[in-house]
Amino acid sequence: MKTTDISDFHWAMQIIGDLDAGLIVLDREYKVCAWNSFMQSYSGISAERILGKHLFDVVPGLPESWIRKKVDASFKLNSRGFSCWEDRPYLFKFKNFSPIADGLNEMRQNITFSPLTSVNGAVSHVSLIINDVTDIAKNKIHLMNSNQKLSDLSRTDGLTKLFNRRYWESCLLEEFESCKVSGSVSSLVIFDIDHFKKVNDTYGHTVGDDVIRHAADELRKATRGGDICGRYGGEEFTVILPGTCADQALYFTERLRKRIEKSLVECEGHTVNYKISLGICELTEQQTSHLTWLEHADKALYFSKENGRNRSTVFDLAFIK
Ligand code: GH3
Ligand code: MG
Ligand code: MG
Repeated sequence: MKTTDISDFHWAMQIIGDLDAGLIVLDREYKVCAWNSFMQSYSGISAERILGKHLFDVVPGLPESWIRKKVDASFKLNSRGFSCWEDRPYLFKFKNFSPIADGLNEMRQNITFSPLTSVNGAVSHVSLIINDVTDIAKNKIHLMNSNQKLSDLSRTDGLTKLFNRRYWESCLLEEFESCKVSGSVSSLVIFDIDHFKKVNDTYGHTVGDDVIRHAADELRKATRGGDICGRYGGEEFTVILPGTCADQALYFTERLRKRIEKSLVECEGHTVNYKISLGICELTEQQTSHLTWLEHADKALYFSKENGRNRSTVFDLAFIK
């Protein structure tokens, strides 16, 4: 009977030794009572060196107060605690030996703190089981990055890298609804390249594309962080200017218009000069939906087109009478 007990114990010790996870047992004084081979090989600290010593005296760089909180809770409450890599990437700074590090240079760890009871039922020790979850973390980070890229792609216009029409319209709806609730000022600008067909017809589509890209770059340069720029159609662009009244929006459009009027686009040995016409609509009670807001800005743009092009127009109620 006794022999069987001892061999059981040996087996248990061998299994613990071979575990592909770290095992530490601490007593109430934080003296290390078990330190398996996983811990030895990753930390470089042998069992002989650490057993019977205080954990924090031998292992440098541990978040001591955090570990104490967890371990003390296991002692007091006789309950398990966890540390997840997503909240705290690791407790023990171990090298990630994986050939593809993917930016994760340290092993990511999930850790379980378990109370160990003695024969009288009292918690005498706490064990820490350290699981290497670096591969799981890598996959999750990779998946999150891919999802982010897909989501960016689905919002972005390929030629200009501005927001595409679908996504930009959803931003317009959001701005419309939030301004209706908060009463904040906001203006919408729409602009279109003048006689763009001529650019395509004279120089070809590649040059035309370069002109569209140039207009997008000028727009990006002219806007501030909170402004929301989109490519609405072929050579038609839209911008939401939050916190901006019609006068300020007009100042913005005139600056953009003049910059573009002065610029030259070099492509395929051609030098192209182009101009734009713009329409502005500040949100008022006249705009009953985000689409009427857009429609009214478009009416102002139409007025610019009809009245000589290369100019900015602020929406006026007379345009819809
Ligand atoms: P207007 O001054 O009245 O705006 O005249 P316009 O010639 O610019 O007329 P319109 O806006 O109708 O012309 C748009 C042209 O833009 C027609 C279309 O072939 C061209 N286009 C649309 N998308 C692209 C694109 O991605 N690349 C190129 N190169 N051309 C495009
Ligand atoms: Mg045009
Ligand atoms: Mg057009």
